[in-house]
Amino acid sequence: MDIKKMVLGITNSYLLTGDHGYIMVDTGIRNQQERFLSGLKYHHIKAEQIRLIIITHGHFDHVGSLAAIKGLCRNCQVMIHPYEAPRISEPRVAIPPGTNLEGKIISSIGRVSRPILKFEPVKPEILFKEEITLREYGIEGKVIHTPGHTAGSLTVLLDDGQAIVGDLAVNFTRSRPFPPFAEEPSVIYSSWKRLCEAGATTIYPAHGPSFPASWLKENLPAGV
Ligand SMILES: [Zn+2]
Ligand SMILES: [Zn+2]
Repeated sequence: MDIKKMVLGITNSYLLTGDHGYIMVDTGIRNQQERFLSGLKYHHIKAEQIRLIIITHGHFDHVGSLAAIKGLCRNCQVMIHPYEAPRISEPRVAIPPGTNLEGKIISSIGRVSRPILKFEPVKPEILFKEEITLREYGIEGKVIHTPGHTAGSLTVLLDDGQAIVGDLAVNFTRSRPFPPFAEEPSVIYSSWKRLCEAGATTIYPAHGPSFPASWLKENLPAGV
């Protein structure tokens, strides 16, 4: 399937074409309405054609414009893992801990910047725990629970092997797809393993360009 990309601030958002409309994955930092609308225009899509917004996890750079975009789409529903739901329905900004020096420095800046990262809360319609199919939207694929970056992080895994992973992996430098921030760093590798075993071939991260899933395999420590 052809995955359409839209950059909303510092975050990639993706669009999947279904039978009767589109699915959007993640909604960028706040105040991205204009970029969202011009991105849709570029792809010849109308906001009302988006039926579902999947939120990979509740960090501000993935949900900042969720309320505004949901409003523009009118009849679309929001899907998220139950662990992340309070992060979008309550007005408290979660700042993830760093996994390396740079991540730790940025994380401490983030904690003092909470007020300017604040976003409008949204009540999600669809919650699930382990796995949910996207067939009812006309998409050959599913959403699976891939914790590590956060406890309730989700991945959209298409049957053809393309995987939209949120922040489970990043592509800033080829050598290290491990995210600079994570709430449960040790769990990230098991989620990578789960993805590879489930047939992932191409990884679409929220930060940086897509890359082959073999990079995850190459970076798995011995014994995982
Ligand atoms: Zn994140
Ligand atoms: Zn992110």
